[in-house]
Amino acid sequence: MFGGLTHEPAINLAKHLVDLTPEGLDRVFLADSGSVSVEVALKMAIQYQLGKGHLGKNKFVTIKNGYHGDTFGAMAVCDPVNSMHSLYAGMLPENFFIEAPVSTPNDEFNPKELEELEDTLACRSDTIAAFILEPIVQGAGGMRFYHPEFLQGAKLICEKYDVLLIADEIATGFGRTGKMFACEHAEITPDILCVGKAITGGYMTLAATICTSNVATTISESRAGVLMHGPTFMGNPLACAAANASMELLKTGQWEDQVKNIELILKQELKPASNWQRVTNVRVFGAIGVIEMSENVDVPSIQKQFVANGVWVRPFGKLIYVMPPFVITTNELKQLIHGMLKVVKSL
Ligand SMILES: *Cc1c(COP(=O)(O)O)cnc(C)c1O
Repeated sequence: MFGGLTHEPAINLAKHLVDLTPEGLDRVFLADSGSVSVEVALKMAIQYQLGKGHLGKNKFVTIKNGYHGDTFGAMAVCDPVNSMHSLYAGMLPENFFIEAPVSTPNDEFNPKELEELEDTLACRSDTIAAFILEPIVQGAGGMRFYHPEFLQGAKLICEKYDVLLIADEIATGFGRTGKMFACEHAEITPDILCVGKAITGGYMTLAATICTSNVATTISESRAGVLMHGPTFMGNPLACAAANASMELLKTGQWEDQVKNIELILKQELKPASNWQRVTNVRVFGAIGVIEMSENVDVPSIQKQFVANGVWVRPFGKLIYVMPPFVITTNELKQLIHGMLKVVKSL
């Protein structure tokens, strides 16, 4: 357990995370999976509001098409349709869902997309602890890319109504979008940041919830005095050591060229698919490539074809996507894309 003791790998990891994350995120809570780090972020927000004397602020606002994990608290802020909230009716906390922004990073931003958030907070901010979303890239809820000005505007609106901003960077963190963190595209610092997945380069299960000193001290000076969460395997030393090795690699800065190269090749090589009949959209952002089809794909059948072509791709719904490891070589990446395209073309 990590209660009342500490160790060098955890201390070093916390230092790396404070160094790498946007300015102002200075306090680290280690968790054992992404979903747990989201649960912790939600609890942090509620305990922060309690610490401020805001007793009724215990709900959340989020945007549709989001994905934040599979535990109950996290599920309650996932897209209600995609994550089948109807199955758990009565068990799930009820939150506020607003439309996701539609302007992509390549469009001119339409400020009207912020009106629903402003209206919701104007009416209900006395019941809302935080606004949670995936910055710039919505992952498992639809592989959508949206405009950084939405995030910038949302941050200002949250400040105005004393609602915290939680950025879930479990999928986007550590370089995936071309910046170390997707929040950097909007030049904002969220109040709370969740990281997971790539934190250990995928080798061990580990995640972290990182917050501002303001959030941390408000919680520790409040009645509870501590954040009410303590998973047995939090700060597992082996997982922290794996994460530190990954942080050292990231700190060489090599990832930047790797991601740029992946983005360039994805853009070049996926382009032909945009003219194909069953393809409605091809999009690339950082080291993420997406082909959107006009209809849901038959996953078991298409996966067999991918494997027969030597590649492993796991589509969902209408989306066939890849998020390759940064160390993939140009040749391997081309092999991956060509294997994928051969199957898509034959559909
Ligand atoms: C994967 C993911 C999670 C959940 O993480 P787990 O480690 O699978 O629990 C939460 N949020 C986002 C954005 C994710 O991509």
